[in-house]
Amino acid sequence: MASNKMLRFVTVDRQTPEKRDAEVRTDDFGEIYREFAAERAAEQAGRCSQCGVPYCQSHCPLHNNIPDWLRLTAEGRLREAYDISQATNTFPEICGRICPQDRLCEGNCVIEQSGHGTVTIGAVEKYVTDTAFDAGWVPAIAPHTERAESVGIIGAGPGGLAAADMLRRAGVQVTVYDRYDRSGGLMMYGIPGFKLEKDIVERRNQQLEEGGVTFRLNCEVGTDITFDEIRDAHDAVIIATGVYKSRELDGDNADAQGVVRALDYLTASNRKSFGDAVADFDNGDLDAEGKRVVVIGGGDTAMDCVRTAIRQGATSVKCLYRRDRANMPGSQRETQNAEEEGVEFIWLTAPAGFEAALAEAKTGGAAVSGVKVQRMKLGEADATGRQTPEIIEGADYVEDADLVIKALGFSPEDLPTLWSKPELEVTRWGTVKADFRTHETPLDGVYAVGDIVRGASLVVWAIRDGREAAEAILEKLDAKGAVIAAE
Ligand code: FAD
Ligand code: SF4
Ligand code: SF4
Repeated sequence: MASNKMLRFVTVDRQTPEKRDAEVRTDDFGEIYREFAAERAAEQAGRCSQCGVPYCQSHCPLHNNIPDWLRLTAEGRLREAYDISQATNTFPEICGRICPQDRLCEGNCVIEQSGHGTVTIGAVEKYVTDTAFDAGWVPAIAPHTERAESVGIIGAGPGGLAAADMLRRAGVQVTVYDRYDRSGGLMMYGIPGFKLEKDIVERRNQQLEEGGVTFRLNCEVGTDITFDEIRDAHDAVIIATGVYKSRELDGDNADAQGVVRALDYLTASNRKSFGDAVADFDNGDLDAEGKRVVVIGGGDTAMDCVRTAIRQGATSVKCLYRRDRANMPGSQRETQNAEEEGVEFIWLTAPAGFEAALAEAKTGGAAVSGVKVQRMKLGEADATGRQTPEIIEGADYVEDADLVIKALGFSPEDLPTLWSKPELEVTRWGTVKADFRTHETPLDGVYAVGDIVRGASLVVWAIRDGREAAEAILEKLDAKGAVIAAE
């Protein structure tokens, strides 16, 4: 039965944690939302109506037991709330920060449908876990028994790390291989600090390392080590390499200086937040300071680029997207944040090429000076029901630009070729084929999780895949008879 601290949605309005003012927050790369105060978290959690069939839970990819941890938070029983929350989610404090809640848990909260504004689920999830870390309730990874079996995980993003956490807690020996110098995948080098501060990710890396996970960083599979070497060294292998091939643009001067890829731009910016030397940033190429910036795309990556450019001190930041606001793939919350920070959206526009000037170039080639923009209108709906953008003839114009950032999405690298492993089966989109429940590929003992299977997706889905693959591996190892490590 719901306690008397619940069902307060009629008398208490929905509130998110305080958002820093746009003029202040754009001076740094810190997160834009402050933490809930204890009373506010309890009050907001108490708005939940404790549904018998909680749609929030069924629309959370991890099926988090949301009503239970909301009730415990409302009752001030935070340690129990944390225990329940972490039972289904490896990184609740990360999901609480960066899940697009409006499309997942909160978007399906019934209170919204009764006109009272959805329960603030993500911010409470973040608050509960941040509090647990501060209070020392987050247990170290300390397996009861050390097992002799080992699993090699290729890719230290959320998918690989979620699997590593679960396997290691079960006593399995785990080695994570990653080509980057830091663990965390896109949580470290893709997503900017104003959405997810890097010490939140580093805290998890440290926990895994202290718990006995071995990290082999700066190790590119296919170059520094072969896939077969990894397979030979372990009882099972998980491929969690994400998707990194940027979709490109055609047209005049598409390769001009100053036309750059979103991930190169964001990675450089994230590296600078660690104080790293980044040649292409330090020479100005990937730095938006003092430039007229145009970002092309309407997804979350585009939103991260425009907001990064604002923080770097661009003189203007414009975003071109070929559909309208209602039809953009990015989260409405992030678009609103970008607008507050001074980004101008030019809806229904697409690039047809670039203008470039030799005189502007630092070395060889020509430097971009503008984007040739085509105006679009929305036409007939396609098979998926989405209206197709159509060019309005004769309405082209040039948008001046010193830096153009292409944020048009990502596709998988060609793993069978890069890893000399033609037997690794991929779909026609290049994603790795794997069983949707166990995540095992047709190669015995080889599993695949996260974006490399789903295509560009979300952190929460990668976590779910990683956890499910770890469970399937443990089941298989147990079926063979667990091997306990010698003392
Ligand atoms: P990744 O996080 O991509 O990690 C893959 C790892 O594999 C990387 O560390 C890479 O270095 C390593 N690797 C790749 N190839 C090799 C190799 N050959 N050898 C060794 N290592 C290799 N999702 C959200 O939920 N919320 C957001 O707000 C959000 N914002 C995003 C913003 C940007 C700019 C981008 C690009 C993505 C965003 N996403 C967001 C999506 C999310 O980051 C991904 O869906 C998620 O990180 C996928 O996890 P993964 O473990 O599959 O792969
Ligand atoms: Fe919502 Fe994401 Fe948390 Fe699930 S993991 S409850 S979708 S914020
Ligand atoms: Fe509570 Fe909303 Fe979930 Fe119902 S749908 S249990 S009201 S958070």
